[in-house]
Amino acid sequence: MRGQSPSGTKKEKLMVVFAGRSNVGKSSTIRALTGIRVLVGKRPGSTRWEKSFDLGSVNFVDFPGFGFMVGKTQDTIEEMKVRIIQVLEEKSNQLALAILLIDLSLFRELVERYEKRNEIPIDIEFYTFLSEIAPKVIVVANKIDKLKKRELVTETDYLEFKLREASSSKNPTIAFISAKKRIGIIQLKQLIESSLAAKGIDKPQW
Ligand code: GDP
Repeated sequence: MRGQSPSGTKKEKLMVVFAGRSNVGKSSTIRALTGIRVLVGKRPGSTRWEKSFDLGSVNFVDFPGFGFMVGKTQDTIEEMKVRIIQVLEEKSNQLALAILLIDLSLFRELVERYEKRNEIPIDIEFYTFLSEIAPKVIVVANKIDKLKKRELVTETDYLEFKLREASSSKNPTIAFISAKKRIGIIQLKQLIESSLAAKGIDKPQW
């Protein structure tokens, strides 16, 4: 049974949710932003369920990684995806901002793999879903340190094209970072702050 307070007695805190495939660097990014030591470098899929961190004006909520996981069956992977979507839908009224992490160095390869099977790439599926339920989505393109300058240009164009194709009504907001090398972290913080400020929400206490 779910512990629910009678309606109106407790105002649930607004959330900034972090979602992304396993191993994209979600834990590393949260740590680079907040200093909170979420487990980094663990085996893919070892983050179980969502974890919440109190940042004052909002909670940062780390959702489990979706997509391929070592040692997990296709059914378990599918169940995880469905559960993440259910939880997000249930809490959509608390959503202030959604942050979708992708690994820019792998994005094209993964998209092409799904498209070859006539399936919607999971990153794109989540982007469309989050765009529908969250007031704002920031796509964080991580691991830019793995790309050469020229690749960064072509992969950025490809990502923008795919996001526009998925949700043509909105211009995608993309932040380019390397959580590992701490590139783009200050800019990402500013983007999170301005996105929250646009909704009248105070800065997180980083
Ligand atoms: P999570 O599963 O999404 O939470 O990913 P983690 O934060 O645990 O990172 C997964 C792996 O990717 C670890 O080996 C990290 O060191 C590595 N990683 C994370 N961010 C970066 C990055 O910006 N560049 C590179 N090269 N590796 C990264």
